[in-house]
Amino acid sequence: MKTTVKSLEGSRQLLFINGRFVAPKNGNYIASYDPTTSEPWYEFAEADAADVDDAVAAASKAFRDPAWRRMTQTDRGRLVRKLADLVLQHADELAEIETRDNGKLIKEMRAQMRSMPDSYHYFAGMADKLHGETIPVNKLDMLNFNMREPIGVVGMITPWNSPLMLLTGTLAPCLAIGNTVVIKPSEHATASTLALAELITEAGFPDGVVNVVTGTGKSAGEALTRHPRIAKYVFTGSTNTGRRIAGNAAMNLVPCSMELGGKSPHVVFGDVDIEHAVNGVVSGVFAAAGQTCVAGSRCFVEANVYDRFIDALVARTQRIRVGHPMDAETDIGPLALADQLSKVEGYVASGVKEGAKIAAGGKRPQSQDLSRGWYFEPTVMVEAQNDMAFMRDEIFGPVVGVMPFKTEEEMIELANDSNYGLASGIWTQNIDRAMRFANQIEAGTVWINTYRASSFMSANGGFKESGYGRRGGFEVMREFTRLKNIIIDYSGAMQDPFVIRLK
Ligand code: NDP
Repeated sequence: MKTTVKSLEGSRQLLFINGRFVAPKNGNYIASYDPTTSEPWYEFAEADAADVDDAVAAASKAFRDPAWRRMTQTDRGRLVRKLADLVLQHADELAEIETRDNGKLIKEMRAQMRSMPDSYHYFAGMADKLHGETIPVNKLDMLNFNMREPIGVVGMITPWNSPLMLLTGTLAPCLAIGNTVVIKPSEHATASTLALAELITEAGFPDGVVNVVTGTGKSAGEALTRHPRIAKYVFTGSTNTGRRIAGNAAMNLVPCSMELGGKSPHVVFGDVDIEHAVNGVVSGVFAAAGQTCVAGSRCFVEANVYDRFIDALVARTQRIRVGHPMDAETDIGPLALADQLSKVEGYVASGVKEGAKIAAGGKRPQSQDLSRGWYFEPTVMVEAQNDMAFMRDEIFGPVVGVMPFKTEEEMIELANDSNYGLASGIWTQNIDRAMRFANQIEAGTVWINTYRASSFMSANGGFKESGYGRRGGFEVMREFTRLKNIIIDYSGAMQDPFVIRLK
């Protein structure tokens, strides 16, 4: 892999279409900004409908090309494994690129990149495990079976917060199963996906199997989601954009898998070690400066330990080190975009206006060293109410609203009172209560005495406005295959051509 943080500095990045890096037809480029300084650091190509057309044509051709279509399952799995090995070999460079692009901590990005190859290996194993089934048929001398096959060209649209990790959960199975792909990464963090394209070539995937069109959502994203030759969309991003993409896809009757936003409840009962629960709540909402879809940003605490919990949470929050993401001592880096910073400030201000109080944080850090970047202090808001805007909307920043509850029934009602349903967490030593919560909560993921633990071996996704479709586990195979029914008549008998043979 030639791309590094150093080679990206001041460079112009091209599109990746049909196995080659090519300039956009319109000759336009956009600057990518370093969130620690708010300065531009490289430029990437601004694809429009003409480039998207080329990418989809390359992917469609590759899908039918015997070099891919007639590759044995074992060989396809081998290619995905080769990619896994290359990702492992370049994990630290890929981590540095993402940290520079989106400001997430280097220690977190290294951990993500070093674990990604396991995910590629897991999904590579699916290549030769796809099978259909033989089905009974109430006719003599007939064989009725179905088979699963790849669906075609998959359009993948990814966000900036963990571009490669979020891509891997769908790209790896998609390729193992034999589809081809056009990826549109977020304009706020494109570099790591382009670097991955180099590894895809190096691994030996045929030209056109994977294509990357960079640019804006408005231009490249819209063109991709309106394209008539896409068989399926995988979108990870905000609920509003998801709605728009699902609408575009519906015009071509194309199915989608939607991984959208969240406003996840994090519940603490008084029977747990408070420091332990505080640590979990901090990890749930402040990790990655709150820029995670599963952020546990609404915290409900049993009334009998509420004051003690708030004291401990505030004390812990005030010890969080906000700093440069490359520094190993940093706990929270900057937000990825200037807009994101204004959005967080706006929600904190609106919360105060509606009656909530800031118990910790609530502003940009004062340190001179951080003044040029998009930093925001981890913020605890108390006297929150579930109907305040900052408790209803996804902020995608380091802000938690805390409120007390008295009974389990009240807590369930509060926790489920949200348009979203992505994740949830509960801290209790009472297994009966934990299971009652797990049964009643409207969320795709439930964490008990932990938060943000995840596995590519299980299927994840949201309920309600957090989306539909699943990523991970064996379940994902259904997302990227279609079922075909085949009937063979080996009776040799001549049938009446004007009567359908129902029995
Ligand atoms: P956005 O919805 O703003 O953007 C996501 C992607 O969609 C980007 O690539 C964006 O391109 C593209 N896009 C924007 N407009 C269009 C359009 N009209 N047509 C096609 N594509 C478009 O989300 P963010 O990037 O801000 O990511 C944060 C969001 O992602 C949060 O809501 C978060 O919860 C969610 N998320 C969900 C996850 C899950 O698994 N459920 C995981 C991670 C994040 P561009 O950036 O170039 O405009």
